[in-house]
Amino acid sequence: MEDILQNISDPQVRSQAEKVAPFHGYLSTGAFIGIQMLNIAKRILDIKESDRLFVTCETYNCLPDPFQVLAGCTIGNKGLKVLDHGKMAATVTKRGPAGSKVKAVRVVLDPSKTQNYPRFHAWYMKTAKVPHPEAVSLLIEAGESVYSYEVLELEVPEKPRKQIEICQRCGESFVQKEDEWVCQPCSACSGRSQ
Ligand SMILES: [Zn+2]
Repeated sequence: MEDILQNISDPQVRSQAEKVAPFHGYLSTGAFIGIQMLNIAKRILDIKESDRLFVTCETYNCLPDPFQVLAGCTIGNKGLKVLDHGKMAATVTKRGPAGSKVKAVRVVLDPSKTQNYPRFHAWYMKTAKVPHPEAVSLLIEAGESVYSYEVLELEVPEKPRKQIEICQRCGESFVQKEDEWVCQPCSACSGRSQ
C-alpha cells in the first residue's frame, strides 16, 4: 500500500490518501473514489478550506469515510447523510441557511467511462477479483476521467424541532419525532423489559 501512495504524483491527493488510509483502515478503492469525488466537487463548487460542506453518499461502502476525515462531514454533525442505494455516487453542497437554495454537484463513478479501463471496470462490476492495490493504481492513472457529474440546485431543509419526552414504557428520554409518547424501541418491541 505504501508503494501506491508513492505512485500518486499530485501532492494534494497523496496527502489526502495518507489521511484516509489510517482512518478507513487501509486505502480501499472505494475510499480513493471518495477522495476523487470530493476533489471534483471542490473544483465545481469552488469550495474553500473554510467552507462547511454537506454530503450525501449513496452507499455505506467506503465512500463516506474520505468525506468524514477530509471534509469534516460526519454523521454526528449531520454533515454526512448515507442513502443505502448501493451506488458509487455522492452529492456535495456548501452548507447554507435553512430554506435557501444552494448549488450542489452529484458525482457518479460512470460505468460507461470505466469501460476504458477494463480491469478497473471488472473491479467495479465485480466480474473479476481485482485486488485493491491494482484497482487504486488504475484509478490514479484514470484520474477524474471515469466520473460524470451534474450540477443541481437544492433547497436547504428546515431544521426539525427537537422536543424531548420521557417514554411512558421504559422511562428513558428520547427525541420526539411527532407526538408519540413511547420511544421507538418500545413501540417496535412490546416484549421489552420495563
Ligand atoms: Zn421506551
